[in-house]
Amino acid sequence: PLILGLESSCDDTAAAVLRGRHILSSVVMGQAELHAAFGGIVPEIAARAHAEKLDLAVEQAIAEAGVHLSDLDAIAVTAGPGLIGGVLSGVMMAKGLAAGLNKPLIGVNHLAGHALTPRLTDGLAFPYLMLLVSGGHCQFLIVRGAQDFTRLGGTIDDAPGEAFDKTARLLGLPQPGGPSVQDAALDGDEARFRFPRPLLDRSGCDLSFSGLKTALLRMRDQIVTDQGGLYARDRADLCAGFQAAVRDVLAEKTRRALALYLADSPAAPAIAIAGGVAANTAIRGALQAISDEAGVVFTAPPLKLCTDNAAMIAYAGAELFAAGERSDMTLAARPRWPLDRDAAPLLGSGK
Ligand code: ATP
Ligand code: FE
Repeated sequence: PLILGLESSCDDTAAAVLRGRHILSSVVMGQAELHAAFGGIVPEIAARAHAEKLDLAVEQAIAEAGVHLSDLDAIAVTAGPGLIGGVLSGVMMAKGLAAGLNKPLIGVNHLAGHALTPRLTDGLAFPYLMLLVSGGHCQFLIVRGAQDFTRLGGTIDDAPGEAFDKTARLLGLPQPGGPSVQDAALDGDEARFRFPRPLLDRSGCDLSFSGLKTALLRMRDQIVTDQGGLYARDRADLCAGFQAAVRDVLAEKTRRALALYLADSPAAPAIAIAGGVAANTAIRGALQAISDEAGVVFTAPPLKLCTDNAAMIAYAGAELFAAGERSDMTLAARPRWPLDRDAAPLLGSGK
């Protein structure tokens, strides 16, 4: 089927057109400049920017795909979780299009978009083990079906993307923090500073990242006290130490999640990573090594499909569409929308 996807749950306004697993177009309009002066995303500014840019994003995605709106089989839209103003803009736009064109509307969970990405990129078969690591989330899931997720564990406080962004802010590096911390860490010595490895002493797959930023703050202030300021060398070493701690914690917890997943005896075992932090080379490398060791397939999406995009929303929409799922005009925008099995049904109907 030919599906238009819309995404506006955070600070990227995105639209994409997919035919099956084929990405005909994927437009992502970032807002980094708008939020730069504030050191973080300002929800009101994000919502207004989405409302202003969605039209253009759709127009561009349709034009680049070389199709007509009337050719579409369905319109998929992120209905949560995320910043409510942005999600609302997307949902209203999608409802308008669906009603105007008389096409089916499909509300998609943003996290399902990330979690199903390895099926879009590699056609991975269910069930696979997913490490979803992004700006706002961190969880291990067994993905059994497009609407069937079992959560094995996750962060009990911050998400790793948030921690990368905070680290960049504390060290005066540009946002988003993930790429700038990764770059700075390239020539850093990860052993110079001893960052903690939170929760490794606790059994299970839960994780914690808030202690890392506290540790970083303390180390930074100590250096400033000792030598009057931070040198590039110090920044590099702090970034390398921080990134190594995130990598090690994710790696060890992945080993534990893998054991739980393998206990189910999946026919074609596979580990996949998704979400913005999945763009991190050190973290990808660590998971690749664990997968190789265990003789399990490892899948990591191309960088553009790790961070927010609408292709993943169109794809998740396509899976729901194939399963006969449809939303209606009562589709609600949800700020919170967990993916677990016990959570409200994936297809938002507003009820
Ligand atoms: P969520 O999906 O949880 O709602 P989000 O949509 O804001 O959150 P994504 O776009 O999936 O998050 O990911 C953005 C996050 O990924 C940011 O915190 C960013 O710093 C981080 N990130 C991007 N590239 C890298 C990288 N190379 N290394 C580490 N983190 C990265
Ligand atoms: Fe995301």
